[in-house]
Amino acid sequence: MTKAYGFAATDPSAKLAPFSFDRREPGAKDVEIDILFCGVCHSDLHTARGEWGNTIYPSVPGHEIVGRVTRVGTGVSKFKADDLVGVGCMVDSCRSCASCREGLEQYCETGFTGTYNGNLYGGSETTFGGYSDKIVVDQDFVLRIPAGMDPAAAAPLLCAGITTFSPMRRWRVSPGQKVGVVGLGGLGHMAIQIAHAMGAHVVLFTTSPGKLEDAKQLGADEVVISKDANAMAAHMASFHFIIDTVAAPHDLDAYLTLLARDGVMVLVGAPASPHPAPGVFNLIMKRRQLVGSLIGGIAETQEMLDFCAEHKLASQIEIIPIQQINEAYERMLKSDVKYRFVIDMASLKETQAA
Ligand code: NAP
Ligand code: ZN
Ligand code: ZN
Repeated sequence: MTKAYGFAATDPSAKLAPFSFDRREPGAKDVEIDILFCGVCHSDLHTARGEWGNTIYPSVPGHEIVGRVTRVGTGVSKFKADDLVGVGCMVDSCRSCASCREGLEQYCETGFTGTYNGNLYGGSETTFGGYSDKIVVDQDFVLRIPAGMDPAAAAPLLCAGITTFSPMRRWRVSPGQKVGVVGLGGLGHMAIQIAHAMGAHVVLFTTSPGKLEDAKQLGADEVVISKDANAMAAHMASFHFIIDTVAAPHDLDAYLTLLARDGVMVLVGAPASPHPAPGVFNLIMKRRQLVGSLIGGIAETQEMLDFCAEHKLASQIEIIPIQQINEAYERMLKSDVKYRFVIDMASLKETQAA
């Protein structure tokens, strides 16, 4: 075991605070990573505060990890010391079920091992995430950060990037299609950039009028303030695809009516309480589809990183020291993030030294 240090929540109402714990020594297939940056996903907040009802405390969140390899096991062939690498939402899966064999580890039939709040060693230990100084991960769940990519701006791609890229690939977003993005936060700002890079005509739906200019710079062709009923009505039955990233319950019918025949609306936002059930007529009259999607597989995550490098896409970030994580959560709840907080993990040393 080696000593590790990070920030953890100890119960649903506790602020995140310093926490010491152990990481395993790298095994034959393991990569040990010195964490440089970790993005702050809304899922971290849902988990730290026990909003999904499944949190194991103490909880060290963080699944948008970028760092440098410090040590590798004797059987590691894919990475070597000093490589710049990433770790996303998963650190293991069964590798033998139909989903794993198809590269869909996120749908592993026995459940993937989450980077945090997951079960290691068949359930005997809980995983701790990236709000920490180091992590040890099996090489098959480690991603290569493409050359030239800024490590801090790459971190949010490991969750926000893949969660929006995967459904756009799955439902074949392509040039000339009309794509809607609901919510301009961490996921939303990657969705706009990726859909634009795939050649779609992109429309952002936002509750925040102040985000209009930013959305256009990210690649949105149009911006609709979702509270404006007339502006919403102008887009009736016209979208091929809509991705809903909102972290709070809301009316889905307002968006389902905007889908064209056979259009697809994918839910990726995961609010703590359910959306009001949508009416059936919006679905059956135009054979519209309401679907969900969970992050993406490991190979697809590498494909997304390479796609972002090729198209020069990155997250727009605000770098914070870890000591500001609790304030960052409060700002996230007010939709006041432009557009992803990323923790500079060098800041951990200040608390450790104190
Ligand atoms: P975020 O940065 O907080 O962004 C969410 C955005 O939703 C906000 O910026 C805001 O955009 C909009 N919003 C928030 N509250 C709203 C409300 N009451 N009504 C309408 N719009 C509201 O969060 P995120 O990190 O992008 O994550 C979004 C959600 O996706 C979370 O629930 C997270 O857990 C989930 N998630 C799911 C997956 C998956 O695999 N499916 C992966 C990662 C995250 P505007 O200001 O533009 O309205
Ligand atoms: Zn996430
Ligand atoms: Zn599996």
